[in-house]
Amino acid sequence: MSASAMSPPGGEPQPVTRFAPSPTGELHLGNARTALFNLLLARRAGGRFLLRIEDTDSERSLEAHTTALMADLRWLGIDWDAGPDREDERGPYRQSQRGALYARQFAVLEARQMVYPCFCTALELELSRRAQLAAGKPPRYAGACRDLTPEERARRQAQGLAATLRFRVPRGERVTFEDFVHGPQSFPTDDIGDFVVRRADGSAAFFFSNAVDDASMGVTQALRGEDHLTNTPRQLLILAALGLAAPAYGHVALIVGADGAPLSKRHAAVSVREYRERGYQPLALANHLFRLGHSSPLHGLLGPEEMARAFDVAHLGRAPARFDEQQLLVWQKDAVHALSPQAARAWLAPLLPAGLDAHATEAFIAALLPNVVLPEDARPWVDIVFGGPPPLGAAGEQVVREAGAGYFAAAAAAAAASGNDLPAIAGAVRAATGRKGAALYMPLRVALTGREHGPELAPLLRAMPAGKARERLARFA
Ligand code: GLU
Repeated sequence: MSASAMSPPGGEPQPVTRFAPSPTGELHLGNARTALFNLLLARRAGGRFLLRIEDTDSERSLEAHTTALMADLRWLGIDWDAGPDREDERGPYRQSQRGALYARQFAVLEARQMVYPCFCTALELELSRRAQLAAGKPPRYAGACRDLTPEERARRQAQGLAATLRFRVPRGERVTFEDFVHGPQSFPTDDIGDFVVRRADGSAAFFFSNAVDDASMGVTQALRGEDHLTNTPRQLLILAALGLAAPAYGHVALIVGADGAPLSKRHAAVSVREYRERGYQPLALANHLFRLGHSSPLHGLLGPEEMARAFDVAHLGRAPARFDEQQLLVWQKDAVHALSPQAARAWLAPLLPAGLDAHATEAFIAALLPNVVLPEDARPWVDIVFGGPPPLGAAGEQVVREAGAGYFAAAAAAAAASGNDLPAIAGAVRAATGRKGAALYMPLRVALTGREHGPELAPLLRAMPAGKARERLARFA
């Protein structure tokens, strides 16, 4: 047992949690939430959080997915104490590299006669499944190979038939456990058919590698999606047969869309990458996920430590959690307003024209930040401030006409003399025309931006190349 997993004298053992994705695709919101909850569960008690890549299915697992998963997790602020790029004595943290360990445990199960080779073909299994369904029975392995004699087994092996290894589920018993989200659970073993723990190609099946790894990595709590609840009895049977300690299991309700169906592309973007690419802030997404299926009395935008302190498994819901992009946008607004100038610069940098000087960048961002939620909201203002003279609408034309040529002659002269200093330009126009308030400022705004509304004008003007402002005002002189 590693030092970090040892109990402090007289205290509770420190929690060890994990996120165990199969790298068969992008990181989805549901999995990202599972990762976040496990991280928080460990962090709140000073425990350890592990990342384990469940890539035993070599056909569907791609290294590129693993790399992308890790990048998305880190972007979201989820970092691990041990994982595929941070190995320790409990690793390796890629299941594809743990074959030797699984082989030892298969040998233990074989020696205890808890498993047997199964020679049934895919076709035979399918026919049996259909026959059971036709008879109105839930399909499970019918047990054709369960009681083969040693001679029959040897004969099939000699024929070179590929064999899976099946777990011999005890008959007439119940598997009971306390799910730390759903409470007490009880499953009759007679409902569980003998299941495959080793595929015909020799690789470990999910039930097996997942359970064995939790035990050998010292995982104390496995918090995962509700779709795994019915897998748990099988996993407990495996661990009991091996004499290994099982983690406490908790199954959190799935995320659904507005219509109550499991969240899918139909409802919203579902991958973390898409939200990242659209300019969502990681803290906004984390705050939304934190409250999906987890109630919290704290209402504001929480930082990572605050989330860890406030996370409580007692507040995990059993009802499906509804994903609502409008709510995410509210968090996004808060997160954007909380950005440091440096972070705001990095956030909007991809939109800004190349070679923009520091002064103009700072002014533009100061003007825009209170007014944008996503970078796409800033895009029109990039064109307005740095592009060609913006066209005016009918209302704008009217405002400009009403102000008159003298107004703009004074404004253009002041812009030329002062650089882009709004108080100086407004002062000169006031002196020339006697205008005040909206009558003074609106024609300036319209001539400079083409719009009657928008971000604060003074910093926008500071961001604008000096000649451009003068030119726009002079158009109407
Ligand atoms: N690889 C499994 C999955 O991605 C892990 C399930 C678990 O967390 O135990 O669904």
